Amino acid sequence: TGEAGRDFIRDIVQADLEAGKHREVVTRFPPEPNGYLHIGHAKSIALNFGIAQEFGGRCNLRFDDTNPTKEEQEYIDSIQADVRWLGFDWGRNVFYASDYFERLYEWAELLIRNGDAYVDDQSQEEIRTSRGTLTEPGRNSPFRDRSVEDNLDLFRRMKAGEFPNGARVLRAKIDMASGNINLRDPVLYRILHAHHPRTGDAWSIYPSYDYAHGQSDAIEGVTHSICTLEFEDHRPLYEWLLSKLPVPSQPKQYEFARLNITYTLLSKRVLTELVRGGHVSGWDDPRMPTIAGLKRRGVPPAAIREFVKRIGVAKANSVVDVGMLEFCIREELNRTSQRRMAVLRPLKVVIENYPEGQTEELEAINHPDDPSAGTRKITFGRELYIEQDDFMETPPKKFFRLFPGNEVRLRYAYFIKCREVVKNDKGEIVELRCSYDPETRGGNAPDGRKVKATMHWLPAAQSVPAEIRVYNQLFANPAPSAANFVADLNPQSLEVLTNARIELSVAASNSAEPIQFERQGYFVRDADSTADKPVFNRTIGLRDTFAK
Ligand code: ATP
Ligand code: MG
Ligand code: MG
Repeated sequence: TGEAGRDFIRDIVQADLEAGKHREVVTRFPPEPNGYLHIGHAKSIALNFGIAQEFGGRCNLRFDDTNPTKEEQEYIDSIQADVRWLGFDWGRNVFYASDYFERLYEWAELLIRNGDAYVDDQSQEEIRTSRGTLTEPGRNSPFRDRSVEDNLDLFRRMKAGEFPNGARVLRAKIDMASGNINLRDPVLYRILHAHHPRTGDAWSIYPSYDYAHGQSDAIEGVTHSICTLEFEDHRPLYEWLLSKLPVPSQPKQYEFARLNITYTLLSKRVLTELVRGGHVSGWDDPRMPTIAGLKRRGVPPAAIREFVKRIGVAKANSVVDVGMLEFCIREELNRTSQRRMAVLRPLKVVIENYPEGQTEELEAINHPDDPSAGTRKITFGRELYIEQDDFMETPPKKFFRLFPGNEVRLRYAYFIKCREVVKNDKGEIVELRCSYDPETRGGNAPDGRKVKATMHWLPAAQSVPAEIRVYNQLFANPAPSAANFVADLNPQSLEVLTNARIELSVAASNSAEPIQFERQGYFVRDADSTADKPVFNRTIGLRDTFAK
């Protein structure tokens, strides 16, 4: 077995293999193509594909495409791209529940012939109310005792498209008094005159999730069908169907806790509404918890894999602190990102004692922990930019950065001292007049004099404008409401800095590699970049400064 953490599901798989129950472990990741994948899905992907890898089995990618009104080819394509991007590979094993429609239909006829299913003419509402509650048994449908002949005839006419949507359903005939509501004659087929992305207009009835899922697992020879806890109560139905049908294998269902994260909603319905309602720019908006959003934000797939490994696989639902995900992102980016400089909110500095028209090259380190990343040249000259935040005209006590009369170090360059503050006629600070000490080249004073701050900066002429997008949590509430999520949106989730400046070398490169802008955090070039104006997304700040 591999290095990944152990959990109760891996223990079961190992025990089953040791007991010789299966020659090979077969799992599946079964997304419904009705939206983009989110980080919750990554947990399931890592679990299913991880088990197959570690135990030398296989994991199928199976599209659970049984609900054509909500499913689209765009989602199928994005799901494949996202699973691959996360670093998992299904080889040739990509399947669609719709590939089994014919066989599922034949098995439904078999259930009818064996007296295990019937056509019900009640409305959806009547079926719902007659199902009872946890404390109250359900009531039998008046159509429950139809003859096999009538049932077969009606079911075939449902298939032939004779009836309108919702006119009839096929139900399993189990037990309307069962303590488990899922066993109170669950719906197996519904009438839906809808175009399916793969089967087109061939079908006007579609199987329910419960009917399609277990049988698809059995057709594919899945040994361990791993799903989230909300399906625990469906397991008796899963097993009932397998016991009634001549399926080629007997998969077993296991449930684990779904991933929940603070400040985050992981529900495709909510994510769909965020996109459709224009609350975000799309499924890949960098504030979205989708795989596509995380990717665009600059989160490396290795950070997501590490995150889902650390949180583990448990049997009880819980909420993971978003700080844990952020920690994994920082760890990975700190290791892999080259350092550069950017000034997010520039303030102009003129070094009065630096000769006009002169420049010089200074050497900057690309990665403090990785000498092989090498160095680069940065130009120093008379006109520079520093960060507005790094200057205060009347500083409070513990402010050690630049203020009138104070001396600081410019990273890789010199000590500078602020001499004068220049304001416009509105009283805003537009420029600082400073001096530099030529003896401090490289950042140290020969007389041993110390400064308390080292600041990043850029040369005015040898840097270029950029747009920088700073993201904060999409929701302001640590436990946002799925029902009323709009009220919990964070109005400050996106801050666009249109006057930022970046190093020439960064602008010149089209690389999608993550970068650390020193003292600011980790950034990645966005696809919105143009030749005139590069756009960078801030993946995450350097420290956990997020105000809770
Ligand atoms: P949602 O509830 O967001 O609509 P879903 O569960 O309906 O998602 P599917 O496409 O059916 O989405 O999910 C595919 C697989 O991913 C399922 O096995 C499901 O259990 C798993 N999954 C979905 N959300 C999570 C989550 N938050 N944590 C872990 N696994 C998840
Ligand atoms: Mg689903
Ligand atoms: Mg769901």
